Amino acid sequence: MANIVVVFDFDKTIVECDSDNWVVDELGFTDLFNELVPTMPWNNLMDRMMMELNSNGKTIEDIVQVLKRIPIHPRIIPSIKAAYTLGCDLRIVSDANTFFIETILKHFGIRECFSEINTNPGYVDEGRLRILPYHDLNKPPHKCNLCPPNMCKGLIINRIQESISCEENKRFIYLGDGSGDYCPSLRLKEKDFVMPRKNFPVWDLICKDPSLVKAKIYEWSDGEDQERVLHQLINKISMEETAEFISTEFKLQTPSFSTHEAMPKALRVLH
Ligand SMILES: [Mg+2]
Ligand SMILES: [Zn+2]
Repeated sequence: MANIVVVFDFDKTIVECDSDNWVVDELGFTDLFNELVPTMPWNNLMDRMMMELNSNGKTIEDIVQVLKRIPIHPRIIPSIKAAYTLGCDLRIVSDANTFFIETILKHFGIRECFSEINTNPGYVDEGRLRILPYHDLNKPPHKCNLCPPNMCKGLIINRIQESISCEENKRFIYLGDGSGDYCPSLRLKEKDFVMPRKNFPVWDLICKDPSLVKAKIYEWSDGEDQERVLHQLINKISMEETAEFISTEFKLQTPSFSTHEAMPKALRVLH
């Protein structure tokens, strides 16, 4: 399904926890982290925490070992591999960082499934991990009041939409859990799908007024559920494309899928 772009958030969507918290907690720096949380933006805090780890003798290898142990639901990797094999264009949009995400995806053998990873730059500088903001803070701010200064995921979705707009009828499926996934959900089109994780912040935000979201909404709860819903949506899109192909090919009025789509705007649950 070369016409489907699947955009994944990373933390609590691909991996089961927040990778930032996982590293800090596993290396024993939770107390310092909690002390510093109220004093600076998250992105700066993570850069600061990496400095603290370094000055307390924690090495890059210590961080890598911890990242390799991050919990992931057993169905996530097969689901991603299957979507990739079907020809979907898989991308990541995450407020974690390139170092954590690349290390984890390579460890699970799924790095090559993704055509693009949009996240905060993370790199090793003299044995210390540096984490920088995705948006250059020296440039004019992004002006989105839903998102933190370092990253507006909605702008990234708009950039992807523009980059593929010349290509035929691409359709997006966006998966996320956090409040940062709300802005990109609002930027999807009617033909797209958003998969908010049930009872997580983005789901709460969407539920407040689902009519603000143009895309069709399909919730999921855990990795098994995510796999099921994602692959049913991929099937659904491919069936719609086939129906469209047949109707143009034979110039017939095929029964439209819109009778189903015209249901009152609400969270849809696939069974
Ligand atoms: Mg997340
Ligand atoms: Zn935004």
